[in-house]
Amino acid sequence: MTIFRSKERLACLRRLLPLVLLWCVVLAVAVGMLAAWQYRDLASELEQEGTLLHRLVSQRVSQHDAHLTALSAIASAATDSKHDLFLEVAQSIERFYPRIDDIQLVPLDSDVRGTGLKSLPSAEAQQIRAAAHASTGQVVLMADADHADHYVMIKRSPNTDAALYGLMLAVDARALIAEAAPFWSMPNVMLQLSLPDGHVLVGEAQVPAVLQFKKTIANTSQPLVLTVGYTVSWADLLPPWPTVLVLSSVSVLYLVAVIAWRQRGSVRAAMTQARLSALESRLAHASRVNTLGEMASGLTHELTQPLTAILAQAQASRRILDKGQSEMLATVLNDTVTQARRASAILERFRQWSNPQRTPSIVFDVREALENVRALLAPQAAACNVKVECRTLPVPAFVRADPVEMEQVMFNLVRNAIEAVADQGPEGRVVLALAGDGERVVFEVSDNGAGISDEVRSKLFTPFATTRAGGMGLGLALSQRLVESAGGEIGLVGSTQGAVFRVVLPRQPTPTEVKS
Ligand code: ADP
Repeated sequence: MTIFRSKERLACLRRLLPLVLLWCVVLAVAVGMLAAWQYRDLASELEQEGTLLHRLVSQRVSQHDAHLTALSAIASAATDSKHDLFLEVAQSIERFYPRIDDIQLVPLDSDVRGTGLKSLPSAEAQQIRAAAHASTGQVVLMADADHADHYVMIKRSPNTDAALYGLMLAVDARALIAEAAPFWSMPNVMLQLSLPDGHVLVGEAQVPAVLQFKKTIANTSQPLVLTVGYTVSWADLLPPWPTVLVLSSVSVLYLVAVIAWRQRGSVRAAMTQARLSALESRLAHASRVNTLGEMASGLTHELTQPLTAILAQAQASRRILDKGQSEMLATVLNDTVTQARRASAILERFRQWSNPQRTPSIVFDVREALENVRALLAPQAAACNVKVECRTLPVPAFVRADPVEMEQVMFNLVRNAIEAVADQGPEGRVVLALAGDGERVVFEVSDNGAGISDEVRSKLFTPFATTRAGGMGLGLALSQRLVESAGGEIGLVGSTQGAVFRVVLPRQPTPTEVKS
């Protein structure tokens, strides 16, 4: 029982395994698709935010150009050496634009002191002068040596070869890219701003991010390079809630699909079964109609002969009576009785074939039935001068059936064999052999008669198929019904040198099971 259960469980597991594997594959594909979707989303968000920031920085740096131009004009137009207006404007620029944290106006004549918002070390003043001298009209852009995150813009003023001043604007690069959007405060986001020569003003020297957006600021005087990056983590690709949601919805869909597929399979199987059943019943009906037709024509054929004889004898009786020859009447009436009995026998055999009387099956030894049949037919064999050899089994051969029916089967086969060799005189031989194994009991009847022609063989076991003058052709048909109802088989196994008929019945192991 335990072995049976574990086998059943194993078979169930085998059936489920491919479904589970497929489910895992479907889940993996769904997770992969979710990750790809999230990655694409992050990439497009980074590009969107990067573009916004780039536009903002471009706008801001263009303001620096405007300030420089305005301050240069004010410095050139100044009449007083203190440059009060210049300082005033510079102060308000610093107030409104905190990222601009120093503005200096340095006379190119090194003996004159400069004007600025903060005191300027002479080295730096010298650097501004040198840059303004070297300038051919373009703004000079360079890193602020004193402040790591700053850069300076230097322009000569007025912007001609007869320039009097070097004008300097210091910009806090970190403030330049400061942005309020929550995206930029995310820990995975990296931001870098560098000068065109690669000097990094803000951010790491390298941006080791998987996703990257890099663009130069659209400004001629400050073509700074803005680089933003995003380090993608598993949590970004597979956020917990969406992942759980996707996995559960995919599982539910998969389950629904499997159930639908299985139902479709069973509906198909049921439809096929229904079609086969319909076909089977149509065939069975056709075969019944066929058999009925054959039986009717056989019965008609068989009954015609005795009925014609009875009619002729009745007419003869009337003529004999008319002539007053009453002594002849008895003979004619006797013949009439014989023919009537023959007709009755035909009908009785037919009834037996079509509706055999069932008696309860019992377990019995086939050897006894064989012995009864041999004894019963011994006189007929002797009369025909036929030698009957009987090879039985040394041990009991139990089968479950009606013993009378099985005797009837054996009787039909043995009688047919004796009749088949009856005209051979002393050469005629019939062998009855009983054999078997643990599963079956085999009974064979063979003779050395003329055998069975192909034409007769195709009609064997069909009612009224006979080649004998007095035969009715019901013996084999009846035998087949009886053997099959006992769970056995009957057939012709040889027909070249005489005929060999075989009956196979399921063997019963012990007689203790004898019950009706
Ligand atoms: P019946 O004996 O009344 O003809 P059966 O059904 O017993 O009816 O047999 C049908 C036919 O099968 C016989 O007419 C005969 O032609 C053929 N047959 C049966 N047994 C043998 C046999 N041993 N040898 C030759 N022919 C046989």
